[in-house]
Amino acid sequence: MELRGGRATRLVLGLALLCSALEAAPAGPQPLSAVGQFWHVSDLHLDPTYHVTPDRTKVCSSSKGANATDPGPFGDFLCDSPYELILSAFAFMKDSKQQVSFMIWTGDSPPHVPVKELSTKLVISIIGNMSSTIRNFFPDLQVFPALGNHDYWPQDQLPVTTSEVYNAVADFWKPWLTDEAINTFRKGGFYTQLFESSDSSQSLRIISLNTNLYYGPNSVTVNITDPANQFAWLEGILETSSEKKEKVYIIGHVPIGYLPYARNTTAIREHYNERLVKIFRKYSSVIAGQFFGHTHRDSIMVLLDEEEKPVNSLFVAPAVTPVKNVWQLESNNPGVRLYQYDLLDYSLLDLWQFYLDLRDANKKNESNWKLEYILTKAYGIEDLKPESLYEMAKQLSLPHSTLFERYYSNFIVSYDKTLVCEEGCKACQICAIQYLDYSSYTDCINREATWR
Ligand SMILES: [Zn+2]
Ligand SMILES: [Zn+2]
Repeated sequence: MELRGGRATRLVLGLALLCSALEAAPAGPQPLSAVGQFWHVSDLHLDPTYHVTPDRTKVCSSSKGANATDPGPFGDFLCDSPYELILSAFAFMKDSKQQVSFMIWTGDSPPHVPVKELSTKLVISIIGNMSSTIRNFFPDLQVFPALGNHDYWPQDQLPVTTSEVYNAVADFWKPWLTDEAINTFRKGGFYTQLFESSDSSQSLRIISLNTNLYYGPNSVTVNITDPANQFAWLEGILETSSEKKEKVYIIGHVPIGYLPYARNTTAIREHYNERLVKIFRKYSSVIAGQFFGHTHRDSIMVLLDEEEKPVNSLFVAPAVTPVKNVWQLESNNPGVRLYQYDLLDYSLLDLWQFYLDLRDANKKNESNWKLEYILTKAYGIEDLKPESLYEMAKQLSLPHSTLFERYYSNFIVSYDKTLVCEEGCKACQICAIQYLDYSSYTDCINREATWR
């Protein structure tokens, strides 16, 4: 235990030094149990056409003919990621010298462009490019990837049986995954794999779900009760995990629950969402964390059981791409994050969100990635366990909560300090954080949205 405590102290101090500009080294006693760490990256959305040129309609295909706003070497808020931006994100992670056990990567590599500008071949080559980019930066690191709705052509239409894309991607991901995981992946784009750590007595099971099968725009799965039999498979895995007393992290692209920026809208189809919520409630004692992407924004959710007891912590990581549509007010600066977990039981202890101030980086021609916030410090909670997140959610719900202003600024990854989220906007955010099923969410919206 002495040794482990020492290692944890060094890790925490290392981080504190790295981020000394923002936070002083943590004072007081260091945690008794040892700390493990992992990276989470999501929504890289490489736009290979990006190039700075005087004709602003021609900077990137992903602006779809609109004038890029302020294009620079690291990108533009109307464009998907230039390769330079993606390289800067991984270079920052590598140079930070953080000791991490693994990385999770929750999908979406190709750009947001009209369907006819891509093809199966192009989509495969972009996923291949991103996979080898990650492997070149971190040749010895275990990576657990998940597929996104853009990781297919035509986008969103991920199939329920084997396909050219699943097979090609399986080949790219072979260096990271076991034969068994690869076999399952070829059939339906999902897998499970055990992560065995020499630092921990307990093993961690990663379940990488293909939640794109449940995504609204996926017309392949309309009217299918259990696409690719993923629900049956998931329940089987969780049942075995609970018998074996394993701990599980769920990773996936499209999150469960309600979208924080749209009223009464689930990210996946409502009936699939109900089913997943039920499964996750049943097996909440084995699930130590859930990690998603897709919305491009930074948000948290806490799963409550039928008695309103918090039982699971869920995190949606912001995107690396800064892209937004012309008509959108909000976007996000590029972000990557680091989680800290308890090596004894894989419970989540903290989250360090890093970001690139895109305007500043372009102006200075320098990719100055820095710390945006540390979750426990920003919100005054002890750790990231369900009880703590629930406590945080209640604080955020209070009228005129300054903590909520902070939460909203983090939600858009410090994109624009002048943007505010009040009344209906806040009601949607607050309800999405705490209520993941139809009935409790609807009750919340009816209660919170008093302005109607
Ligand atoms: Zn995306
Ligand atoms: Zn997506």
